[in-house]
Amino acid sequence: MYPNWLAQRVKMTPNRKALTFGQQSWTFQQLFDEVLEVAGSLKTFGVENGDRIAILSPSKPALIVTIHACWQLGCEVVLLNERLSDGELSYQIDDAQPTLLLVDGGYEERVAIHSPVTMNVLKEKTSVKFEIEDEWPLERTMSIMYTSGTTGNPKGVRQTVQNHTTNATASAFNMGVQSDDVWLCTMPVFHISGLSIFIRSVLYGMEVRLYSKFDLSQVVDDLVNGEVTRMSVVSVMLERILRELEDRDVSVSPRLLTMLVGGGPVPSNYLERAIARGIPILQTYGMTETSSQTATLAPEDAVRKLGSSGKPLYLSFIKIDQATNPFEEGEICIRGGHVTPGYIGRNASTASQVNGWLHTGDIGYFDDEGYLYVVDRRSDLIISGGENIYPAEVENAILQHPMIREAGVCGMSDEKWGQVPAAFIVGDEALSLESLQAFLQDKLAAYKMPKVLYHVKVMPRNASNKLLRRELRAWLTSESKA
Ligand code: ATP
Ligand code: MG
Repeated sequence: MYPNWLAQRVKMTPNRKALTFGQQSWTFQQLFDEVLEVAGSLKTFGVENGDRIAILSPSKPALIVTIHACWQLGCEVVLLNERLSDGELSYQIDDAQPTLLLVDGGYEERVAIHSPVTMNVLKEKTSVKFEIEDEWPLERTMSIMYTSGTTGNPKGVRQTVQNHTTNATASAFNMGVQSDDVWLCTMPVFHISGLSIFIRSVLYGMEVRLYSKFDLSQVVDDLVNGEVTRMSVVSVMLERILRELEDRDVSVSPRLLTMLVGGGPVPSNYLERAIARGIPILQTYGMTETSSQTATLAPEDAVRKLGSSGKPLYLSFIKIDQATNPFEEGEICIRGGHVTPGYIGRNASTASQVNGWLHTGDIGYFDDEGYLYVVDRRSDLIISGGENIYPAEVENAILQHPMIREAGVCGMSDEKWGQVPAAFIVGDEALSLESLQAFLQDKLAAYKMPKVLYHVKVMPRNASNKLLRRELRAWLTSESKA
């Protein structure tokens, strides 16, 4: 058994700040009081311990309160992504079959066929008393989160008390915890990168400064003024922060201890620019199935091991399938208390583990010092004349070009080679294939060189902002048909 996260925190440091949102703030005690109130209202809907409650809401304090309220009642929460299309939402709601669907005001119509209850209604209900559990079973599912759907349909992942607690603990062993830590959260709470910040907050007794949206100017102010000590981003956000810092010609405050960058590969160009602006970048590798980080680069290695995702966190074990030597590439497999026990719904019978190891579908290798390098997704691999080409490597090289802001690479059918790389870019329209190839000449082997170049206005990305290379492949086929 583990302690009831929030109840335990309130016993320890009730008066510490838990949450700030605009001009509003809550101590842990104030948060707990609100949570119990909302939990009592949820009871009036006949909610029982073990029930599944789905929530569709933007990142805002009411969402945090509602999630904790569900947990106080022993319920699983399914966190739905507001950026999904209505059809995608329906797919996930049908898959999860929640007993109750809560939505933020304004979202009722989007999911009307699923009979939602507006979160605001909870405030009006008279709270019903219920017994607070002091301890929770390790194997209890706390959250169900859908994977980003980068490689196919999203899968509903169970995240248990043990998964989240192990993850938050391992993260603290790596980064340390300070009593005056403030974590800036602009990551969506329905994504593990966002939710995990709130779990760390309760476990560490740490304040979170929450934003509903990624407000670039405000975020950069916070970083420069030393208002926050930690922040999580994906590389697209990092690039925007860098450009803003460069435009203002300022560096971040030395109070910033950690900028955790994950969710996908980080182009080395971004890492170098971040160092120039005083940003302590920690590259991290994780997934929904591991309740966030599984390997993270320790602060002292951030520069020396640029591009690596670091070593497995203290409580996590990682191996490269079938590899026996350093630098040998293969599928990354993960084991540990943070690995999900499995999926729900349509994927309930999909094995999440083989002999205790989660097979990630990602290709990577360890160097001779035991540092993990995530190369790319197995499903995006381009095989050209028998040679393996990882799109991420080609994109990385392309992104060093000053006229290019975003890049996506995928395989294109080719009579001679089977497949060749095709490049899509967002950037200066004047750039030609020939000049790009000339730029890449000394950066990439000839077989990795993009053979075609497409200028696009926006890159196809999913609701988590991840590049959808399968869409790029689909564009190519529709082009060739046209
Ligand atoms: P789906 O499983 O539905 O295809 P997804 O894998 O994108 O979607 P997430 O769980 O949100 O869903 O993302 C985890 C994946 O993100 C990892 O498996 C990996 O491919 C990628 N990723 C995360 N961190 C990194 C990193 N540091 N470097 C490279 N890739 C990363
Ligand atoms: Mg995945």
